[in-house]
Amino acid sequence: MNYEPVIGLEVHVELATASKMFCRCSADYFGKEPNTHTCPVCLGLPGALPVANKKAIEWCVAIGLALSCEIPLSSKFDRKNYFYPDLPKGYQISQYDMPFCVNGSLTLKNGRKITIQRVHMEEDTAKLTHTTVDGAKVSLVDFNRSGVPLVEIVTAPDFENSEEVVEYLKKLQQLVRYLGVSNADLEKGDMRLEPNVSLRKASQVSKDLPSYKVELKNINSFKFAQKAIEYEVKRQAEILDSKKTPLQETRGWNESSQSTVSQRSKEEAHDYRYFPEPDIPPLNWHEAQIKKLKLSMQELPAAKLKRFQKDYEVRDQDVELLTRQREIADFFEEAVKVGLKYNISSKAIANFIINKKVDFSKTLPAGLIKNIVNSAKTQAFDDEKLEKIVEKVLSENQQAVFDYQKGKTAVIMFLIGQVQKEAKGAADPAQVKAILIEKLKPNR
Ligand code: ZN
Ligand code: MN
Repeated sequence: MNYEPVIGLEVHVELATASKMFCRCSADYFGKEPNTHTCPVCLGLPGALPVANKKAIEWCVAIGLALSCEIPLSSKFDRKNYFYPDLPKGYQISQYDMPFCVNGSLTLKNGRKITIQRVHMEEDTAKLTHTTVDGAKVSLVDFNRSGVPLVEIVTAPDFENSEEVVEYLKKLQQLVRYLGVSNADLEKGDMRLEPNVSLRKASQVSKDLPSYKVELKNINSFKFAQKAIEYEVKRQAEILDSKKTPLQETRGWNESSQSTVSQRSKEEAHDYRYFPEPDIPPLNWHEAQIKKLKLSMQELPAAKLKRFQKDYEVRDQDVELLTRQREIADFFEEAVKVGLKYNISSKAIANFIINKKVDFSKTLPAGLIKNIVNSAKTQAFDDEKLEKIVEKVLSENQQAVFDYQKGKTAVIMFLIGQVQKEAKGAADPAQVKAILIEKLKPNR
């Protein structure tokens, strides 16, 4: 290809705080009766005043810290003005020139560092549903989502292809889940992705950005993100080949047509008439507060991975699997603790977790260790060894054999019992029964 993709990413993550960003309404709105999580503040009624959610701000900063951002000691909220039915105040409270977190980075597997320009705090909008009621086409507004804390994470246009974007997204999702600040479920809209894509000539010496960019919306899976970016790269290349410049616009991914579709021309920042939010005073941190936040943070995936590699005798690719989710990592470590008492190695535990696909919602670490102990016992009886025991039991119980062959098949339970006695209860009963039936067939 004659062009190289220039890709940046805006990700919105909804925080899982108990209450909304600027009022006391419950932020747990998913699947709830429409317009039941509302109050004058999040309905934008005149005279209602916002009060910022401290926890949400701390969590926003935690995300910034996890992305190696600097945390400026002064910050403020701003109004982003635009008119849309899902925005009752006519503006969104967001952050413009003084976001909570700036200048971070996230390093990809190939060693390339993606710059995080900013991580800022804002509020979610209401949700519109376009439908038909009594034969009329209507748009319904549900304000339950209005004012739910939303963190926006913006990268520099540092990605060179869609694979890098997907890797970054997975890492980011893992990070916020580790921090425990968001479910980051794409299907529920907890995490929303907006890649921006443009192309520059591969032969271009200066790394100047192209004169346009296309923002992609309506992407609710990592797979769609990849497909939309790849489609866009091809589409733009064709336009550039014909000596034209692609339009600066927002395009939505259409899964049924497997293509991007023009939605609207893209606004510039000045269209939003940003100005400081007069109802919320500027915010100032003390260094000590940031330090305390840092200390209270969960161990992050990269650090956990390194520690596991150092502390446990587990293969590198298994460490990767074990640390992918915090719940699995915690489970593993707890199981290792219990396993010590039974002389079970961390390696055996890792193998068991990875190969047996343990259901973590139904199993406790101690239960897992019990399973490992039992299966070790069972495995000790390979077929050959078990057959010998069965033969011994049969020769010592001729009367039972005779009875069985005369049709008193219930006697097999007695024989299974005798075999188990011999095997000290460690044989698999189903396997014992199968061998017995085979051996009890007359005149073999
Ligand atoms: Zn409210
Ligand atoms: Mn935003």
